[in-house]
Amino acid sequence: MKKVSILGSTGSIGESTLAVIRENLEQYQVHSLVANSNLDAMYRQCLEFVPEYVLMRDTAAAQTLKALLLEARVETQVLCGDADLEALMGSSEIDYVMSAIVGAAGLKPTMAAVESGKRILLANKESLVIAGELFMSAVQQYGCELLPIDSEHNAIYQCLPISAGNPVEPIRRILLTASGGPFRRFTADELEAVTPAQALKHPNWDMGPKITIDSASLMNKGLELIEACWLFNVSPDVVDVHIHPQSIIHSMVEYVDGSILAQMGSPDMRTPIAYGLGWPDRIESGVPSLDLFAMADLTFEKPDMERFPCLALAAQVFKRGGTAPTLLNAANEVAVGLFLENRIRFTEIPSVIDYVLDRIMVEPVESIEHIMEQDRNARIVASQYSTRRAV
Ligand code: NAD
Ligand code: MG
Repeated sequence: MKKVSILGSTGSIGESTLAVIRENLEQYQVHSLVANSNLDAMYRQCLEFVPEYVLMRDTAAAQTLKALLLEARVETQVLCGDADLEALMGSSEIDYVMSAIVGAAGLKPTMAAVESGKRILLANKESLVIAGELFMSAVQQYGCELLPIDSEHNAIYQCLPISAGNPVEPIRRILLTASGGPFRRFTADELEAVTPAQALKHPNWDMGPKITIDSASLMNKGLELIEACWLFNVSPDVVDVHIHPQSIIHSMVEYVDGSILAQMGSPDMRTPIAYGLGWPDRIESGVPSLDLFAMADLTFEKPDMERFPCLALAAQVFKRGGTAPTLLNAANEVAVGLFLENRIRFTEIPSVIDYVLDRIMVEPVESIEHIMEQDRNARIVASQYSTRRAV
């Protein structure tokens, strides 16, 4: 029996993780659940899975949950706050941690889990983007099993005979696929006018709001390019983004002999999650078989860097190194929030990032604390972008 802790249990990845566990209750037990403030979802999850601990970041939500669980006679201990969270991640009772908090907020708890040598199922790509070097060296130092959950990276991992982080000499290219998002065919003028509601409708995947907007701007692919470089120890020149609108091939690896290995499946995160939980074995995910006869075409296009500047921005920032990816990520998180609140246009997302990169000096990374400090600074400057426009 493996004991699993889920960071971000009430989100899209969190719910899918619980769905896979529900299929495999003889092998996995929910040890603890962590989320921000979604009380209803957390209460429902506690009633079903009766974890030993539950942690809510929002104090009021934690208090209400405690009272509700007491009333329902559910013996789950309710925790709250960053210190409790880091202590929880250090618990020797946990075998696997699903890292699925959204954004830079996932970094510190995930690092705490890495430092206690757990198997990490990594969905939270932002951790690797902002702290790749420290993260990967801690994975080595503490002997973690790091299983990529992001569907593309999980596909690449499945196409590699070696584990993440090792040198990949016989590889010619990594073909990172992208759906292209809902605006793939939009002109530059049309992109100026898109609304949050349009951007929140992803053609293939059902995901949380932040990653859905990132998919529409192609920033998600930019973050994934950086994620791939850290995970598989390759230079960005080896990673070739292919727009593949059907989202059936989740990525490919090309070897020096010209062989290309691809991983295919329905666009359903339960597949990579089941792979991460079961590895090196395979377990049931609940995902039905893919009907290839029902598939008209599998097509590929080059990404348009002019209409979607976020992809090129991420590649540049990775090459710059230091705290540059931290600044880009924080600026993007703020920009996505501003767009969702209708305070900036969709096409201003890269402008907010430029605004921050022009105003904060890139520094060599010193520590996780240093990264978090730069993350905070970047958020302050990024928020000034919208007030600057108002005056
Ligand atoms: P989501 O918005 O649906 O869920 C986010 C979860 O994080 C929620 O449970 C929320 O309560 C929790 N959370 C947010 N801030 C927190 C904080 N400060 N402390 C504790 N908990 C906090 O997001 P999602 O779509 O599930 O994505 C989660 C992560 O997985 C992201 O990094 C995303 O890029 C990555 N990812 C998601 C998908 C997908 O299909 N959804 C695919 C690949 C990668
Ligand atoms: Mg992905």
